[in-house]
Amino acid sequence: MKFGTKAIHAGVSPDPTTGAIMTPIYQTSTFVQSSPGKHKGYEYARTHNPTRDALQASLAALENAQFGLCFASGLAATDTIAKLLRPGDEVICTNDLYGGTYRLFTKVFQNYGIKFHFISMDDVNTIKQYINANTKLIWVETPTNPLLNIIDIKGIATIAKANNILTCIDNTFATPYIQTPLDFGIDIVVHSVTKYLSGHSDVVMGAILTNNKEVHDKLMFLQNACGAVPGPQDCFLVLRGIKTLHLRMERHCFNAAKIAHYLEAHPKVEKVYWPGLTSHKNHEVAKSQMNAFGGMISFTLHSEKIEDAFKVLENFKLFCLAESLGGVESLCGHPASMTHASIPREERLKAGLKDTLIRLSVGVEDVEDLIDDLAQAIG
Ligand SMILES: *Cc1c(COP(=O)(O)O)cnc(C)c1O
Repeated sequence: MKFGTKAIHAGVSPDPTTGAIMTPIYQTSTFVQSSPGKHKGYEYARTHNPTRDALQASLAALENAQFGLCFASGLAATDTIAKLLRPGDEVICTNDLYGGTYRLFTKVFQNYGIKFHFISMDDVNTIKQYINANTKLIWVETPTNPLLNIIDIKGIATIAKANNILTCIDNTFATPYIQTPLDFGIDIVVHSVTKYLSGHSDVVMGAILTNNKEVHDKLMFLQNACGAVPGPQDCFLVLRGIKTLHLRMERHCFNAAKIAHYLEAHPKVEKVYWPGLTSHKNHEVAKSQMNAFGGMISFTLHSEKIEDAFKVLENFKLFCLAESLGGVESLCGHPASMTHASIPREERLKAGLKDTLIRLSVGVEDVEDLIDDLAQAIG
């Protein structure tokens, strides 16, 4: 089945009791048993819920995974994967990482005796010098946030397999419309469903997809044991959002291409980060592993002054200044003071994240209107 058909049909079937074409919101905490232990597959809603099951199956199908699990947020999903680790274990991570993931790793899991190495993965061979007997997990974001670096997924999987290390890719920015990392040999895909998968800026949720039964069983145990599950209403909203994922992504990517080229030609813009541009340092890797280049763009101004970036952000009329991304409406953000404020300035600058960097989540509006807004805001 092709992607658009899967987005509409995978994991969902008409409700057996009524024929309702849309999966009902099973707003219930418990399920009646006819005799102790005799039930219809459902006992208690932390463990299983039919609305959540449908969503988990749908997301798994999109990522070409056998198994899917949903969580109360993207970070709850990440937290669950980190709980596979033990004191003394080491993790190698992308340096240009979502700020909340960096905070979870350094401020929470480091206290439990887990060691994290944050490194540039532009050349995947760099990873090798950080591998030792304690290395248990390689954590990758591609495209990275906010610099849109692209990391060679197949290269990561090859090195990890040779060293018997688990791999996880945060596929939030790309979505399975653009890339399916499990097909490249990656073990686990994690999502902030909050973003493109939900797509309408009305839900916070996370998901984990894998083909590794052993890993899945451990994660499912943790999902139930730790309990960070999403409610059925939110699962329904995401099931609804997923049905247009392919249509939305097509438009996000189309609009972003136009805007990236517009910005690249703008005299006040210093540098544009979008993997579809031939000027992007990882454009060749991007072409080899992505079906399209996504709706996220970052750019810097010909200025070192943070106030100049603030002025542009305040001038926008259509682009709303807000955290988050991946919704139908266009958003803008200032990573240094917003999403990445929890990363120390020196670390940020080391990763190439300047104070005048502006990040755009390009929505699905008419692109001419978005370009007009950029023109008046940058001036
Ligand atoms: C938002 C985001 C997260 C965290 O997800 P929440 O749903 O906000 O908990 C993780 N990774 C990336 C790339 C994100 O954009």
